[in-house]
Amino acid sequence: MKYYSTNKKAPVVSLQEAVVKGLAPDRGLYMPERIDRLPAGFFEEIENYELHEIAKTVAEVFFGEDIPKEKLDAIVSDTLNFEIPLKEVEEGVYVLELFHGPTFAFKDVGARFMARMLSHFVQEGKEEVNVLVATSGDTGSAVANGFLGVEGIKVFVLYPSGKVSEMQEAQFTTLGQNITALEVDGTFDDCQTLVKSAFMDEELNSRLKLTSANSINVARFLPQSFYYFWAYAQLKRELQDAKVVVSVPSGNLGNLTAGLFAKRMGLSVDKFIAVNNRNDVFREYLQTGKYIPRTSVQTIANAMDVGAPSNFERILDLYGHSHEAITADVSSYKYSDEEIRMAISNVYAKSDYLLDPHGACAYLALKEGKKPDETGIFLATAHPAKFRETVGSCIRGSLQIPDALAAFMKNKKQSISLPKDFNLFKKQLIDQS
Ligand SMILES: *Cc1c(COP(=O)(O)O)cnc(C)c1O
Repeated sequence: MKYYSTNKKAPVVSLQEAVVKGLAPDRGLYMPERIDRLPAGFFEEIENYELHEIAKTVAEVFFGEDIPKEKLDAIVSDTLNFEIPLKEVEEGVYVLELFHGPTFAFKDVGARFMARMLSHFVQEGKEEVNVLVATSGDTGSAVANGFLGVEGIKVFVLYPSGKVSEMQEAQFTTLGQNITALEVDGTFDDCQTLVKSAFMDEELNSRLKLTSANSINVARFLPQSFYYFWAYAQLKRELQDAKVVVSVPSGNLGNLTAGLFAKRMGLSVDKFIAVNNRNDVFREYLQTGKYIPRTSVQTIANAMDVGAPSNFERILDLYGHSHEAITADVSSYKYSDEEIRMAISNVYAKSDYLLDPHGACAYLALKEGKKPDETGIFLATAHPAKFRETVGSCIRGSLQIPDALAAFMKNKKQSISLPKDFNLFKKQLIDQS
């Protein structure tokens, strides 16, 4: 399968090139040239399949032409070494728990898949690759842990100093080996800009092989479509013929885009809800047709603090730049920190279910956007214990920290402080390689 750039000013490339390059040379994002529908028979029997079977079937659609089946199946099985259960929280309201992976957030799915696919391609090319990743919290940990110890790959994690939780920071600053944490004096958007500039810098690219592990990479975002099918399969075991609405806590819109791809592949989702916190650039676009990126502000759902969502271009491309077509499939709501706190507190008191701030946003939006005859699924993208300060303050009683999560906190932080200055960042990359 070939991949084209959303800016249409760069040549089409192979999967290998799209994965190794990350961003297209015209600064566009790569898109697969086709999105094939899965056969009707697959959907008729979907409730009989397990997660791995579903994921392998979906992976085959995108990657089957380029990766031998056995290898691809192994990548999928290795990636999904944890469960993704669907649970009923209230009548008609289900949660898809995406946080049972090694770093307790949904980004484990995309990051683990990408690490394995990149490693497959690097071994073919035999040249060291430097992975650059900007993180607002969870990407860094998922990518760093996904790539830890993988030969031929070095990872640089850029994160905004003081703007990620203690727990998140521990997950990518304590690993050592092939992982370097760069603590940037700035916002997440500053980190993202540094990464994007690095890809555009000719001198740097002539000296080092660079790639991105942000959701701009096709190997990161496409595998996220697996679990939309899996959520549907689990729901169908309980309910036939449900009208399904899916609520997605959104930042860079990679997760939502993967859901929209699933719909394009034939998955029967009536409507998606893209949930924003106070950083509601996408909601504004849906309401007004105008896309006005701006500097992000800090909230308690910090993985959604994005002022210029990178996958917006993919959504435009997927819908032929039609605002009308996009709004037919997607609606949006926004929530303040106060509303998020109330939701965590109320749902815990009423249903004995503990939400993290991102899942809480998605829950609220589902309650607001779902009609009585519809069945709702909201995505819980992180484990509540990752935000123990915030979540703990919303509930009575103490918050249980899973052992595997607490283990990260025991190790020593190692990070390199940097101002948001491209030339210093560049020097750092050259010195370290
Ligand atoms: C990254 C992240 C999001 C936002 O996902 P996008 O794909 O960037 O829209 C939501 N919740 C959590 C916990 C995250 O880590």
